[in-house]
Amino acid sequence: VHSSDDANLREELCRAGRLMWERGLSVARDGNLSARLADGRLLITPGGACKGFLTPDMLLTVDLDGRVLEAPAGARSTSELPMHLEVYRRRPDVRAVVHAHPPIAVALSLAGVPLDEDVLPEIILTLGRVPTSEYATPSGEENRAAIRDLIADHDALVLRRHGTLTVGRDPFDAYLKLESVEQLARILWLARQAGGAAPLAPDQLEKLHALRAALFAAPAPAVDEGAP
Ligand SMILES: [Zn+2]
Repeated sequence: VHSSDDANLREELCRAGRLMWERGLSVARDGNLSARLADGRLLITPGGACKGFLTPDMLLTVDLDGRVLEAPAGARSTSELPMHLEVYRRRPDVRAVVHAHPPIAVALSLAGVPLDEDVLPEIILTLGRVPTSEYATPSGEENRAAIRDLIADHDALVLRRHGTLTVGRDPFDAYLKLESVEQLARILWLARQAGGAAPLAPDQLEKLHALRAALFAAPAPAVDEGAP
């Protein structure tokens, strides 16, 4: 028997997983999701499950050290658990984490096209910069190290040659940031085909960063100091 906090979060994780799969942002058994309960424990998806068909009883409960506290018979945690743990340790404000394989964002990463270009005012206001991590072997400690410094200051990352990591105040919030990253990738890809995307002017950027700081009372993302 789970508390209402626990039961609600389980439902929200399943809903976010279903949306992710239905929208093609992760296919087959790809991706994983987690959320932080009020008491500090984490709910996380099992390894090997299609995220389009999760049910609340399939989720595992773990602590911040990754110890499994509760799991359905035969279930193991996702292999990306270390990456999720790193986010919750680094970001006390984060209540949910979504890892996915959105195809256009991943394709642009393969092509060496960064997503952190200052071209779309709405993205700068709502999502901030979306940096790309160093390459890391998926499933384990390398991925944890690759996101460690970036996740402290960003809510959305591209994992080079792999996927995305988005965080939020609840599973739907983290999921919506995934949608925004993939939409950003799609628009940048289309713009490149249409001739390119000119960056915003410094004074335009300055206004956007000030507005973002006022809207979210959060530090504006740093202006790019140079090429990646
Ligand atoms: Zn992955």
